[in-house]
Amino acid sequence: MVHFVGAGPGAVDLITLRGEKFIREADVIIYAGSLVNPGLLQKAKQGCEIYNSAKMTLEEVISVMERAHKNGQEVVRLHTGDASLYGAIREQMDILEEKNIPYDSCPGVSSFCAGAAALNLEYTLPEVSQSLIITRMAGRTKVPEKESIESFAAHHCSMVIFLSAGMLEELSKKLVAGGYSPDTPAAIVYKASWEDEKKIVCTLEKLPEKAREMNITKTALIIVGDVVSPLSYGRSKLYDPKFTTEYRKGK
Ligand code: SAH
Repeated sequence: MVHFVGAGPGAVDLITLRGEKFIREADVIIYAGSLVNPGLLQKAKQGCEIYNSAKMTLEEVISVMERAHKNGQEVVRLHTGDASLYGAIREQMDILEEKNIPYDSCPGVSSFCAGAAALNLEYTLPEVSQSLIITRMAGRTKVPEKESIESFAAHHCSMVIFLSAGMLEELSKKLVAGGYSPDTPAAIVYKASWEDEKKIVCTLEKLPEKAREMNITKTALIIVGDVVSPLSYGRSKLYDPKFTTEYRKGK
């Protein structure tokens, strides 16, 4: 059996209990070495074979999984954050399916959650934004045309941009071209939840400059929208004394 496990954003105690159990029981672990905290591997049992997928191709990853499966071994494929975001898991799963190798998935805390926690931020503030767009700039991996940064910016909702910390000049221009004003609140969170986490709240136009000052070119999230430093917002209905819910009668 192959377990795809979300390792969480960095801090070793931000993996799920289930994910940690899979690590403890694994005979083979293939981890995304670029971003998974190596401290998590210390939880593996003695004799567990450990592979760093940063140095491997898809074919090599699959061949390790296939061999382990033939030997009746339990495999953990450890991805950073939650594996459903930029995790390249579908291509692995499709080949496992062809080869009749069973697999399942264990969710993880995505870095966009750790980024919000670092800033004590709520992405969905009443009367400010009730939606969150998660996207990236096109790099060597293309982004479908209909998902341009400009088109998303037009919504003025909360936005988290992955994999783009090295392109902030262009990102900031595109966000403004799409309709955000240059003074829209924005934040950079570098290595959220790691010991060397860095964060800065600024405005959209200041993003490139702040990143340069802090020497940030990768492993960072860009968070954009009024929720980053809201001037005002609506009170929740759920906790309003006058509001009746299934659990509480309003006065
Ligand atoms: N599956 C992961 C994302 C992998 S893509 C998740 O759910 O978080 C890699 C990108 O994620 C990085 O370029 C960066 O933009 C972001 N990232 C991952 N871990 C991060 C962290 N601890 N702090 C800030 N950004 C992070």
